[in-house]
Amino acid sequence: MIVALCEDPTAYGLREDLSDLVIVTSHTGEEWPDSLDLAEIHVLRLLRRYRVRLVQVARAGQSDAAGYVVLSDTREPDRLWRRGPWALSDEYTPTGTLPQFAQGKRICSIRAKGSVIDRWAEDEFGATPYRHAIGFEATEINRSERDIEYASPTRKPWYPLIEWGWDRPRLQAFLYAAFGVKEWPKSYCALCCFPATMAARDKHLERCRTFPDVAARVLLLEHRAMALNARTTLYRDSSLKELLIDDGNDAALSAYERMLSDMPWAVYHVRRIYFAGRSDTCKAQHGDTCTTPRASCRDPLRKGTCWRSVRTSALGPRDAITPHLKQLAKEQGTTTTSAEDGIPRVNIREPGTTYPALQELLVAAPAGVHGKERKSFAHRWDQIAGTNTLPLDL
Ligand code: SF4
Ligand SMILES: [Zn+2]
Repeated sequence: MIVALCEDPTAYGLREDLSDLVIVTSHTGEEWPDSLDLAEIHVLRLLRRYRVRLVQVARAGQSDAAGYVVLSDTREPDRLWRRGPWALSDEYTPTGTLPQFAQGKRICSIRAKGSVIDRWAEDEFGATPYRHAIGFEATEINRSERDIEYASPTRKPWYPLIEWGWDRPRLQAFLYAAFGVKEWPKSYCALCCFPATMAARDKHLERCRTFPDVAARVLLLEHRAMALNARTTLYRDSSLKELLIDDGNDAALSAYERMLSDMPWAVYHVRRIYFAGRSDTCKAQHGDTCTTPRASCRDPLRKGTCWRSVRTSALGPRDAITPHLKQLAKEQGTTTTSAEDGIPRVNIREPGTTYPALQELLVAAPAGVHGKERKSFAHRWDQIAGTNTLPLDL
């Protein structure tokens, strides 16, 4: 898209000298190195030749209040930043989670890219309307349909590649003609879990072989997330670890093992409250939200909201933490278990099949997850553990 606009600006309603074109990129900190290298070599050279303004931005921190930083703003760009002060993995390490869909939206993309660029644009253009061109390819109409919801009187979205009908093969041929690069790899985060965004699986695995250290860092994120919740694998149908084992990617797996040995470990105390879901009667009588639940509003056979509490109960090197967990198991009159994932756990309390239900476990995993527990967690836990009656104020 950038190349086409630079080569024939007036055809797309831009000034001949491209003084009204601004390229903005928001760094997630998780982009594959080859995507950045290729863009740095070929695209930046083009931008310098046409004196096009390139603005590189990034989210400044975890909270929205931290805002964004401008890493570079120039018509002579000579490098692409690899990350800003905050990267997407900084979001997932302390929470022990992975990218997720929420209400059909990619929260990661909104937080690391969309909201950052929108805020920059607001500061830059104020009330002046601008066209916001996004390079979704011709087959990504559903992504453009999601993005169009963010149109505003000032922001007018434009999807040139869709308009021109340029799909991936067409784009590859165009880039080959422009730069002599036969295959331009897809740009996405190494920790991405969304098949529609990622390259095809064989290309993805090939990249993991080319960049084993990058794959190892993603394995580490997946490890923490799985430790806290065994069902959380990076992909819907398998874990990254399983894919790399099947692929025989020993370089990535050994780099990951080395990281595990060299870093601090923790024993996490994980507790979950599974509340009872809303009953049919409640939904029928009280509509979408029930503000004053009665006992009949809960269905003890239906799983509702889950609250999680994570506390770090010990820290140390891996070879001290694993025996420590065994000792803790002994004190609980039980032993450690390793499910298929090989992660050692002590199951103290297994959730039953009626709700509310409680789950409690100790697990040894790489350190880095921050303790988190909502204010009323302890009170609700005690209430359910002590009485087993249905809590009414949820
Ligand atoms: S590439 Fe994937 S992980 Fe990265 S921001 Fe986009 S959807 Fe999220
Ligand atoms: Zn109700």
